[in-house]
Amino acid sequence: MINELADPIPLYRPYLGQEVKDAAALALDDGWLGLGPLTERFELELERYLELRSQRRVVTTNSCTAAIHLATVIAGAGPGDEVICPAFTYVAGHQAVSATGATIVFCDIEEKTLGADPMSVQALITERTKAIMAVHYAGMPCDLDGIRAVADERGLRVIEDAAHAFGSRHQGARIGSTGDLTCFSFGPVKTITSLEGGAIVTPDPDDVQRLHELRLIGVTADTSARYERNRMWDYDVVRQGYRYHLGAVPAAIGLSQLAMVDTFATNRQRYCRTYDGLLVGTPGIQLMPTDWHDVVPYIYVIRLEDAANRPGFMQHLKQRGVASGIHFMGAHHYSFYEGNRRDDLSITEAVSAEVVTLPLHPFMSDSTIERVAGAVRSFFER
Ligand SMILES: *Cc1c(COP(=O)(O)O)cnc(C)c1O
Repeated sequence: MINELADPIPLYRPYLGQEVKDAAALALDDGWLGLGPLTERFELELERYLELRSQRRVVTTNSCTAAIHLATVIAGAGPGDEVICPAFTYVAGHQAVSATGATIVFCDIEEKTLGADPMSVQALITERTKAIMAVHYAGMPCDLDGIRAVADERGLRVIEDAAHAFGSRHQGARIGSTGDLTCFSFGPVKTITSLEGGAIVTPDPDDVQRLHELRLIGVTADTSARYERNRMWDYDVVRQGYRYHLGAVPAAIGLSQLAMVDTFATNRQRYCRTYDGLLVGTPGIQLMPTDWHDVVPYIYVIRLEDAANRPGFMQHLKQRGVASGIHFMGAHHYSFYEGNRRDDLSITEAVSAEVVTLPLHPFMSDSTIERVAGAVRSFFER
């Protein structure tokens, strides 16, 4: 017991090994810290990893929140418009949407994927709807076909918040390699990190041009000149823009992480299966509805059959040196979104009261996973 407390298991532990530090040091030594060749290289390597074809491109940003904000701008949503979002996601996504002045409308999720329920989305569509946000919870693809069908019927754009799903596949295709606007996060605890960072994927060359302007304070950037480090002074400013570009040091760190992503992904899948094997059949808990085959898991989540157990359960884990978390509480409860229109959110309410996130790292020992699983079981098998 005392040993366990001396060696607590954190919820996240980003891999920050020597190659990551070397990459950052090299970029710092170089002295060009802004948008430049490293940003371009990171984007090209991301395009390769995501298996993008034809005109589909990656535009990096300095966070996923920035990426979702720009995706919402690209979708044409602003004051007076509505964007339908699941309440069951990280509020960074809601904030990014409402930053445009558009109003969030909350849809429910479905049990099968814990992503937006297409029926609930459909029920909320009005003349004011501009876009639908789809979230791939924990890395599990949501019902993209159902959501796209609802969107296509009304000519709406689909913004995918794929912050959890870097590397996951939907019907064999990487998330981001199909569809409309897909946003990724390379934040501190995500599957790969650039410390802070994000990206948008779009199939539309016009979107790419606009995104290059939007992320760089509205400047008509000759992006290829920027990537070659040519500072330009004779630019025009054509729209409201933001300071959202990804600099050289985060890009270098992102590249060093991307070089290891296959190991991270395989490990995370293996750890989730190990957890499943150790926890299956434990009375009082439910496991996620996936075999992890096409899922690159960002978090490992269990559901408690009795939500009233959650505070005691999390305290029990804490006393055994095991950190846990809650993803997510349901943004419709936050004061800022209190008055927002919503569908019946029964599944969101149930799920958000039952979920507990357990530690998942890019590198974990079997004994760490066994300790976490043992702490979980000891609560329910008392
Ligand atoms: C982490 C996260 C974000 C925000 O990403 P940042 O890169 O930190 O801005 C958005 N949505 C979801 C679901 C996330 O988990």
